Amino acid sequence: MKNIVFLGAPGAGKGTQSEFIIKKYGIIQISTGDMLRAAVKAGSPLGKVAKEYMDNGKLVTDEIIIGLMKERLAQPDCKNGFILDGFPRTLAQAKSLDIMLQEDMKTEITHIISLEVPDEYIVERITGRRTSPVTGKIYHVKYNPPAVEGMAEDGKTPLIQRDDDKEETVKKRLEVFHEQADALKSYYKSTGKLFIVDGTKAPDTVFAEIEEILK
Ligand code: AMP
Repeated sequence: MKNIVFLGAPGAGKGTQSEFIIKKYGIIQISTGDMLRAAVKAGSPLGKVAKEYMDNGKLVTDEIIIGLMKERLAQPDCKNGFILDGFPRTLAQAKSLDIMLQEDMKTEITHIISLEVPDEYIVERITGRRTSPVTGKIYHVKYNPPAVEGMAEDGKTPLIQRDDDKEETVKKRLEVFHEQADALKSYYKSTGKLFIVDGTKAPDTVFAEIEEILK
């Protein structure tokens, strides 16, 4: 059983590595960012509240996120293992997660993978990031371009850029990440299940390291 948590700055490669893990191990990915973006797109009450925080690069409140995750983890597809991408982001979320897993699911986190990328790399990585609306696959205009420039796999649907992937918002998101990162890492260090991975390398190289960890 693999219940994986990804830690790492925005743009560290959590989403990309999650895609590889899903393919190889057949477990599901839960991305709170993707869930919130879906809520914003649907115009739901949650989406309306979340949008305000997201557009400013701030964290949505712990209360909202924890409620959202509690509901998500109760779904049957989580029973065979999962990757958490973008959650937990605060110490309060990490503690709630442990309790939810223990009490509601009689399970626990098996691996915490911290993908480490220095800030200097992040802005270029994120501002060049594009997503395929067809498959959800993540591209980069320079480092991982699609087959047809600017287009999704069908060659005709334009790739999209996340609203919060603009430079000013990225800087704020990085600042917010650093406010929480040390506390989260030290919380998980004591579990003996924290693995640090150099996220500056090519995606395949990073994945090879992750495969070793998940063996
Ligand atoms: P992400 O796609 O993980 O970069 O998340 C995009 C945005 O969604 C973040 O900048 C936050 O505003 C919000 N968000 C996603 N996950 C969380 C979380 N665990 N706690 C608080 N806010 C979150």
